[in-house]
Amino acid sequence: MRIWDCHCHLRGDETGAYVLAQMDAAGVERVNLFSRYPGRGHAPDEQVSRDEVRAVIEHVASVQSADPARIYGLIFANPRAEGMVEEIERGIVDLGLRGVKMIPDHWSPADELVFPIYEKLRELGKPIQFHAGILYGFGDSSRFCRPVLYEALVNFPGLRFSLAHIGWPWVDECIAVFGRFRAAVGYKTEGCQMWIDTCRGTPDAWREEALRKAVPFCGIERLMFGVDGSPSSMADQAPLHARKDLDLLRNVLGLSQEQIETFFFGACEGFWG
Ligand SMILES: [Zn+2]
Repeated sequence: MRIWDCHCHLRGDETGAYVLAQMDAAGVERVNLFSRYPGRGHAPDEQVSRDEVRAVIEHVASVQSADPARIYGLIFANPRAEGMVEEIERGIVDLGLRGVKMIPDHWSPADELVFPIYEKLRELGKPIQFHAGILYGFGDSSRFCRPVLYEALVNFPGLRFSLAHIGWPWVDECIAVFGRFRAAVGYKTEGCQMWIDTCRGTPDAWREEALRKAVPFCGIERLMFGVDGSPSSMADQAPLHARKDLDLLRNVLGLSQEQIETFFFGACEGFWG
């Protein structure tokens, strides 16, 4: 079975050869790989220089260059960092990076602060992978991560995006937001801006219910498999998460082999268009 891990974080010191070796050890064919975050992410008034932004982008681009057919590099954007929009454009246009990753951190997805990033990605025709759901990593930021806040993206038609963790613990809200975006294009999945990144967040006790609701409502072609680890944890974590999700989808929810292959690979392929 082909596996595309849609959610993996660089620490910032990996080489492309190392990432490819970890992917091979994990049985992961392709990965969406996020750059290190420019800044620490805890203080809204933190100064993040353009040099630091450029360094994290250069790093993910160098890793991607080891095999751009397998490694899809994304820029972890900090909307308060100096020159962020210009550096995103440079990373995508000049260095061939694929898109942007964002975690709301004392800014909301509906804040005008982030609109220039949305506009730039829409102009470039590249997607954004957002965090959604409770946030364990960035201080008291969960209040900015409710799935419904992403409804603001309806004002940026055509901009593709994903919400991670099925929005856990706001799973129903995340699924409803998907319905909102499908309605925006005439109740059709084709042309809908939104995908769901199902990487963990949902603990085991919630995951069956979350997928039991998300699969029929959203369609398996909009649900992407992800691990939310780093290259160094991939060999341990990816097979474990894949095995648990496979068991759930095949033996509990009764999905077909074709649907299962869509979940583990095809949905992400569709996300990249
Ligand atoms: Zn993550």
